[in-house]
This record gives sequence, structure tokens and C-alpha cells, in this order.
Amino acid sequence: MNASVERVELALAEPFEISRGVQTEAENVVVELTHEGETGVGAAAPSAHYGETVDTVEAVLPRLLDALPDDPHDLDAAHAAMARVVNHNPAAKAAVDIALHDLVSRLQDLPLYRLLGLDASETPVSSFTVGLDDTPAMARKARAAADAGHEVLKVKLGTDRDVEIVEAVADAAPDATIRVDANEAWTPKEAVATCRRLDGLAEFVEQPVSAENPEGMRYVYERSPLPIAADESLVVASDVPSVAEVADIANVKLMKCGGIRPAIAAFHAARAHGLETMLGCMIESNAAIAAGVHLAPLLDYADLDGSLLLADGADPFAGPPVPALDPAVTDRGTGARRR
Ligand SMILES: [Mg+2]
Repeated sequence: MNASVERVELALAEPFEISRGVQTEAENVVVELTHEGETGVGAAAPSAHYGETVDTVEAVLPRLLDALPDDPHDLDAAHAAMARVVNHNPAAKAAVDIALHDLVSRLQDLPLYRLLGLDASETPVSSFTVGLDDTPAMARKARAAADAGHEVLKVKLGTDRDVEIVEAVADAAPDATIRVDANEAWTPKEAVATCRRLDGLAEFVEQPVSAENPEGMRYVYERSPLPIAADESLVVASDVPSVAEVADIANVKLMKCGGIRPAIAAFHAARAHGLETMLGCMIESNAAIAAGVHLAPLLDYADLDGSLLLADGADPFAGPPVPALDPAVTDRGTGARRR
């Protein structure tokens, strides 16, 4: 296999703020793998929260790529080989995993969901994220998103005016389903009080308290009228058994767990432990988001708006459309292709 690696700067449509801070630009690392005349593409969207940057991704990719088996169909062997040469670094591994899956499904002349044996007849729509801002601005953005056709809004919280924000968003976009994400910002008591006030306004609440505080998660889980989704608390499949005791929904991300194969393992673990499933994302090029679209048949909830948050024309890749997640529009691979 021939491999190429390229760092891409992705301008955001507007600054993206969550409880932990604001992001004004994103960088991904694109991996392309060529074998027998076909090319597969994937991308890493590293998150400093999980210990990665574009520099760490670029630093480990040569070792990951060198370790790959000669035949791209050997997907389990590829993951075993990557694990042998590099610990952790899940976004770097996800870029390779996605490129391999795109390549293999192209070699087999199949869309990825067909290679995975999934039934694409029923899939959820993706939410669209409204980042933190002053309350009128968040309401304005919610209305604009609803006017643009987004039926599900994910509202970032973690301020001293969280209920006011959700009420303003609900007024501005009365037909939208609203989910909220505190990104670990609340104390357990604040979380319970806020969840009670959001009952009837929000569908579920994501990561109310710190992932470092599982007893706090349990406190909220036992008292909240709203279902609880675990994001920062759930990184890989082996986190599922403990998370299943303190949450209702498993929010898996390709960039947290290391790609499509580990994500499928996490979904099966989640189902086996009675959790609903969700796939989230970072700020990602379609070179990565496209892979998530093909996992939509496995999901109860989807949050795959990473490429929608980019400025017009900023993404060098096009992919299957979001927020409708229909992998069947793809004839081969993930459907991610250079514009
Ligand atoms: Mg989240």
C-alpha cells in the first residue's frame, strides 16, 4: 500500500464555544492509502482533551502506516499491528482505520455500510450544534438552523443562564427537538436542578458532570428526569460496563475510540449493557464524517455536524449529505471525495 499524509486547515463558519473554551480554527490530518489502483481516504481530528494534536498525529502516523499488513482487507490485523507500535493516539488510528475501510469497500465495489452488512433503510438525522454565545445570539443561531432545515438542535450549556438559553432556543425554534450538552460543567446538584427545569424542553442531557466524578454522574442519573448521555465518560468499549450504571446513552466518537472497528465494538457493548447508542464527532472534514454516516444504521442518535460547522468551501472533501444520514446515496466506499 502507498500512503500519503496531509495536514489541512479548516476555517470555521464562526468561533465554536463550549464550556471548556472557544475554538476559532480546526486542523485535521488526512490519510490516503492506495492499493491496486484504488485510493481510500480518512482523517484525524485530534482533540487536546484526549491528549492529541495535529503534531502528535503527524508524529505517530509513520509508525502506524509502516506497521500495516500488506493486504488492506486484514482490518483486525491492522488494528493489532497499530496497537503493538503505538499506545493510545486514537485520532491518528482512526484516520488509518477510516482510510482502510474506504479503500476495502472501494476494492470490493461496495458502499461501506454494505461491506459492514448494515441495513440503511432506517437512520436517524444528525443534530446541529448551537455553540455558547450570549443568549439572543444563541436564539438567533437556533432559528437560522431550524430555517435551514435542522430538526434536531444540540445546545451547548455550562453558563449561569442555562435554563434561560434553552427557553430562548425553544422559543426561537419551536418545532426543533432540543438536546443539551454541559461538557462536564455542572456540579452534581446543579445538574439535577437544571435537568428538572429542562424537563419537557430537552430530549436528553449530555455529560452533565465531570468524567472524573462517576459518583456525581450516578447522583445525577438517579435523580434526573431527563436521560443522560455519556460522552467524556465513555472513550472506548471497555468503559461501557461502568458507564451503563450511570447513563442511558453511549456517545461514541471515532476520534475517541480509534476508528470504525473500535466504534462498532463500543456500540455492541453499549447495546449488550442496555444503553442507547449515539455517534458524535469533533470538528471534522467530510473525509472523516463520511465514515460516521455509514454507521448511522447502528444509532439511536447522531451528532455528525462536524463538517457543517466549517466555513463554506473550507473542507477539501465532499461527502454524503448531513443532517439526513443516508449511506445508500454512496455507490462505493465512504463517499468522501476531493472537491
Ligand atoms: Mg459532548
